[in-house]
Amino acid sequence: MKKFIRILGLVLTLLTLTVVASACGHKPLSQRNVLQTDRQDKTITWGVKADTRLFGLLDTKDNQIKGFEVDLATALTKQMLGKDAKAKFIQVTSSTRMPMLKNGNIDAIIATMTNTPERRKQVDFSKTYFFAGQSLLVKKGSRIKNVKDLNKQKGTVLGVVGSDSVQNVAKVAPDAKVLQLTDYAQAMTALKSGQGQALTTDNGILYGMSVQNPGYEVTGGTFVSEPYGIAIDKNQEPFKASVNKALTQLRENGEYDKILHKWFHNVKGFDYKEAAKE
Ligand code: GLU
Repeated sequence: MKKFIRILGLVLTLLTLTVVASACGHKPLSQRNVLQTDRQDKTITWGVKADTRLFGLLDTKDNQIKGFEVDLATALTKQMLGKDAKAKFIQVTSSTRMPMLKNGNIDAIIATMTNTPERRKQVDFSKTYFFAGQSLLVKKGSRIKNVKDLNKQKGTVLGVVGSDSVQNVAKVAPDAKVLQLTDYAQAMTALKSGQGQALTTDNGILYGMSVQNPGYEVTGGTFVSEPYGIAIDKNQEPFKASVNKALTQLRENGEYDKILHKWFHNVKGFDYKEAAKE
C-alpha cells in the first residue's frame, strides 16, 4: 500500500510538472519555431545595445533604449508581423548577446554585431543592414594618428570584451597592449581617465562617442570591414527568411533610409551612405 502511494505521488508530481511546463510553452530550444511563436504573440524580442549612442542607448529620462537599431527592429517587427505587432527590447552587451540568444532569452540580436566566419559556426546572420569598419578614437592632438602609430608607439588600446575589435587590433598592432572593458560606456571612461591612448571599435560607434565628447576624434580611417547582420539561432530558417524579406522591403519603400538619415545625418565626418550599402 505504501509503495502504491509513493508511486501515485511520483506520477502526480510528474503530471504537474508536465502541465506547468507546457503551460509556460517550454519546448526544447532545438524544437522551437521562433517565427510561429512570434506570430502567435504578435511580438518579437530583440537583443539591443544600451551603451552605444546612435545604435542603442538607454535614455535614463524615460528608461527607453533609443537608436538606429531600435528603430530598425521596430520597423522590421511591423513589416514581418503587422502594424499592431510589438517589438520588445532586452539589453545586451558584446559579451552577453550570444549566450542570451543561444539560451532563448531573445529571438534575434540587432546589436552592432559583425557577421564573421567564427560566429557563423554558432548562429546564422541576416543580410547586411549596416556596413561599418573598425577604427580608432583618440584625444584631439594625440600622437597616434592611425593603427601603425599605435603599434610603433606600443600604446595601450582600449576595447570591449566579446567584441571582435579586440582580436582584430591584436593582429594588426601586435606590439600594442589591449585592455578590455565590460562595455562601451566604461571603455570611454577609461580613455578619458588616460588608461589607454586609443579606443578601438567600429567607426559608427566611435562617431557616436565623439559627438558626445568633442575633445576626442575618430582617426586613421578603417582597418577591418565590419558588416553588421542580425544574428538568429541556427535552424530558424523561416524567421531568417522573414527578416531578410522585411529588410529588402524596408530598403525598397524608403523606410530604411528614413531611419538611417534620422540617426546619422548630423554626425560630422561619417559617411553613413557608404554604411548603408548592401
Ligand atoms: N562589430 C564588432 C563586433 O561585433 C564590434 C562592436 C561590438 O562590440 O558590438 O564585435
